[in-house]
Amino acid sequence: MLIAGNWKMNGDSAQVDAFARDVKSAAGELAAQLLVCVPFVYIDRMGRELADSSVALGAQNIAAEVDAGAFTGEVNGAMLADTGCSQVIVGHSERRALYGETDAVVAAKTTAAVAAGLKPIVCVGETLEQRDADQAEAVLGAQIAALFDQCDAATLAQVTIAYEPIWAIGTGRSATPEQAQAIHAFLRGQIADRDVTLSQSVQLLYGGSVKPDNAAALFAGADVDGALVGGASLKADSFLDIARAAG
Ligand code: 13P
Repeated sequence: MLIAGNWKMNGDSAQVDAFARDVKSAAGELAAQLLVCVPFVYIDRMGRELADSSVALGAQNIAAEVDAGAFTGEVNGAMLADTGCSQVIVGHSERRALYGETDAVVAAKTTAAVAAGLKPIVCVGETLEQRDADQAEAVLGAQIAALFDQCDAATLAQVTIAYEPIWAIGTGRSATPEQAQAIHAFLRGQIADRDVTLSQSVQLLYGGSVKPDNAAALFAGADVDGALVGGASLKADSFLDIARAAG
């Protein structure tokens, strides 16, 4: 199980220090792998504060360009790896919706992440309108198809998929455990259609209003291999409680 925190555009130095102190002291007792993805400017500080712990460090975005150069405001995979990141979130619905990231951009960033030795957590998810119109599987299937069409096998072997229904993000309205498990089984099936071995090893995270009180039920799904946690990852207490629910 992987419990990944996505701080989004939240936090400050004091919050980094407090989070790291509390999570570091508890992480050793947990069976789940912990990962925290903070804003770029806090990655180095979080890494130093978490030094010698089992908690992994990640970023929330990556440049599609692999090589350094004239790309003002961008951060490439080599820089993330150099700063201590082992993973990076790619194609979060906020980046797709607010910053115009297409499936092609998501695939390019996924490839760039693996080229730098990072494991990409690729996010997929449907809107409420799409779900209500019974299009959730079609939308998710197309997102998976684009990834497989545009990334090579060596890249895909490193990918973690996060299912984040857009209607569940930041709304307090999580998918039910049954809804999450059904979609995770569907996603694993989509992957199995292309690569059976990969479908058995790929980690499928659920994200969208995961809290300490709903985590255990969500994790009971056979195809739910962890969580991508937004708001509840900002405080060590709730993040650790979710991790404890993972066993
Ligand atoms: P919340 O847990 O705040 O709903 O956010 C989920 C998410 O988008 C994680 O990437």
